[in-house]
Amino acid sequence: MTFRATILTLFPEMFPGPLGLSLSGDALARGLWSCEARNIRDHGLGKHRAVDDTPAGGGAGMVLRADVLAAGIDEAAAPGDFRPRLLMSPRGKPLTQARVRELAAGPGAIIVCGRFEGVDERVILARKLEEVSIGDYVLSGGEIAALTLLDACIRLLPGVMGKEASGQDESFENGLLEYPHYTRPREFEGRAIPDVLLSGDHAKIAEWRRAEAERITRERRPDLLRIRS
Ligand code: SAM
Repeated sequence: MTFRATILTLFPEMFPGPLGLSLSGDALARGLWSCEARNIRDHGLGKHRAVDDTPAGGGAGMVLRADVLAAGIDEAAAPGDFRPRLLMSPRGKPLTQARVRELAAGPGAIIVCGRFEGVDERVILARKLEEVSIGDYVLSGGEIAALTLLDACIRLLPGVMGKEASGQDESFENGLLEYPHYTRPREFEGRAIPDVLLSGDHAKIAEWRRAEAERITRERRPDLLRIRS
């Protein structure tokens, strides 16, 4: 099954962008996912194809119009298209690896990229958009957030990563951050690879990695440990 990404944006040329390269680019070429970027401006109004207007109640900036965006969403989502409809938004629920896994296991997503001050609230409600944030900071538009979300999903699609198992041990998968990695040379600027990793004792290595993952999580993200317990 191909994971279908449909993106509604004022800058369709930003897609697939960096996702056309490396692992995701190779997966795109192999048909493991598809990427359709649609221009919201195609539904704009009047001679200038206006998509935005001044905020009701006054204030700075412009707001993406509900009628324009709704027309774009309706055209993108044919009847019977049950893909989740996401709106990239700093107000949204923070994206987690668990949500990424759910999305990657599904048929794809319709992703709306906001611009300006934001999107008219009524289209969010009327088209049941799920607001998703990629972090507590404000970007100038939803495109880079959408690329981030897609990158996280695509690498989990079956056949994308070299080894199916890679991904299981990663940060956030067990509510823990990942343990440290080492490779050759055996010593670098006076720092040696921990002996246990060179011991060949797989049980001991697994135990060491687990303990290190717990230590790093405790130090850097104690909130993750609280969620686990
Ligand atoms: N006025 C909005 C606010 O204070 O919440 C910020 C609007 S921002 C300049 C324009 C668009 O960028 C948003 O509509 C959203 O699509 C996107 N965006 C900005 N920050 C984001 C984030 N942290 N996560 C997801 N999307 C974001």
